[in-house]
Amino acid sequence: MKVTLIPVTPFQQNSSLLVCEATGRAAVVDPGGDLDVIQGEIARQNVSVEKVFLTHGHIDHCAGAKTLASRYDVPIEGPHPDERFWLDKLPDQSTRFGFPAAEAFEPDRWLQNGETVQFGDEILEVYHCPGHTPGHVVFFSRAHRLALVGDVLFAGSIGRTDFPRGNHADLVRSIREKLWPLGDDVTFVPGHGPTSTFGAERRTNPYVCDGVEA
Ligand SMILES: [Zn+2]
Ligand SMILES: [Zn+2]
Repeated sequence: MKVTLIPVTPFQQNSSLLVCEATGRAAVVDPGGDLDVIQGEIARQNVSVEKVFLTHGHIDHCAGAKTLASRYDVPIEGPHPDERFWLDKLPDQSTRFGFPAAEAFEPDRWLQNGETVQFGDEILEVYHCPGHTPGHVVFFSRAHRLALVGDVLFAGSIGRTDFPRGNHADLVRSIREKLWPLGDDVTFVPGHGPTSTFGAERRTNPYVCDGVEA
């Protein structure tokens, strides 16, 4: 699986283009905006988009999802149903954060913890990781030891929990109980900023490193 990070929107959100190299099939994770840039990368790699995956309902992660999915005529999968609250608020989020007008939408498929999503020959496991938002999900490729964690975890930090329905204790529990068991060797793509590994964060992340109380 080939992964290309495409920072989009004024928030420099890491949208990701995932490509199954065996089949040339692709999925786009968190197309928050700047669809011309994302579509340019899809065309440059000459791949066939099959799915749009969403980690959560914040505008910088999902504002472009519906338009992109319609352009390629593909389904949107994720996040967890507890995220309906944020997707319903997209028009309000767009005004508040100075984004182009965004309409509320529903994904074609809501995701539950323990389910899998698929594109080409690639399978991603789904983990429900509430805390930053109530219905946030993380996607994990066991074969490639790679996780797409949205705004749950960053290199050296963790997601904000001061939004409505955010919860710091839930977020720390999500990281420790859902992500760490996947393995120290796992590389993760955060919603913003550089990639890291779970092992590096367990050693040095001041919010969730081993030995630190939540
Ligand atoms: Zn967020
Ligand atoms: Zn974000």
